[in-house]
Amino acid sequence: MSEKKGAVVTIDGPSGSGKSTISRMLAARLHYTYLDTGAMYRAVGLKVRQAGIDLDNPADRPRLVKLLAELDLQLALAARAGEETRVFLDGEEISAAIRTAEMGLVASRVSAEPVVRQKLTEMQRQFGLQGGVVAEGRDTGTVVFPQAAYKFYLDASPEERARRRWEQLREKGQEMDRQEILAQIEKRDRDDSSRALAPLSAAPDAIIIDSSVLSVEAVVEVMLARMAPA
Ligand code: C5P
Repeated sequence: MSEKKGAVVTIDGPSGSGKSTISRMLAARLHYTYLDTGAMYRAVGLKVRQAGIDLDNPADRPRLVKLLAELDLQLALAARAGEETRVFLDGEEISAAIRTAEMGLVASRVSAEPVVRQKLTEMQRQFGLQGGVVAEGRDTGTVVFPQAAYKFYLDASPEERARRRWEQLREKGQEMDRQEILAQIEKRDRDDSSRALAPLSAAPDAIIIDSSVLSVEAVVEVMLARMAPA
C-alpha cells in the first residue's frame, strides 16, 4: 500500500453513487479519518430552517451571516470504523435529523449560497491539515482540496442511485415512493451541477469510477489498487 503518510483522498459524486459507504470503508482500510462534508451542509440547512431564515429574502442576509459566524458545528468521529459520522449542532446531536430526503434538498439550497460555501470550505480545509483524511462531497477534489494526493469521482445511473437511496431510507424506517426519490435525485443533480459556485463535477485529475455494476467492496478495491505503487 503506497498510502502517503497524511495524504488527503477526495471522493466526489452525485447523491446515491455510494460515496458515503465507500468513503467510510476506504477510510477504515487506510486508518484515515472520514470527513462527511455533506453532513456539514445538511447541518447548516437545519440551522437556517430552525432560525426561520428565508434565503430568497435579501433582508434576511445579515441573519445568515451572523448565523455562520456563530455556527457551533462539531463532527464526532465514528466510534467504530465504517460508521456514520455523528453531528452536533449547538451541542445537540442532529445525526438522524439531518439524514432525511427532505434535508438533502434543504442542504442543496443552502449549499448554493457563497457565504455558506466559504465558511464550510474553510472548516473542511482546517480539518484536512491533520492529513490522513478521506473527504467526501461534491467539490472536495475541485475546490476544497485541489492538491489532494488521490481524487476519485463516483458515478452511477440515476435509477440505481434512486434504488440505493430508497433502500437506505427504508433501513432507517423512512418509507418513500421510489419514483419520488428518483425525481428528487434528478432535481438535486440538476441543482448541484448547474450552480455557479463549486458545481458538482469531476476534477480533471480525478479517477472516475462507475459504481452501477460494482459492489461497494469492489469499488474500494479498485481505489486501493489505484493508490498502490505502479
Ligand atoms: O452528500 P449529501 O447528500 O449529504 O449532501 C447534501 C447536499 O449538500 C448535496 O446535495 C449538495 O447540494 C450539498 N453539498 C455540497 N458540497 C459538498 C457536499 C454536499 O454542495 N461538498
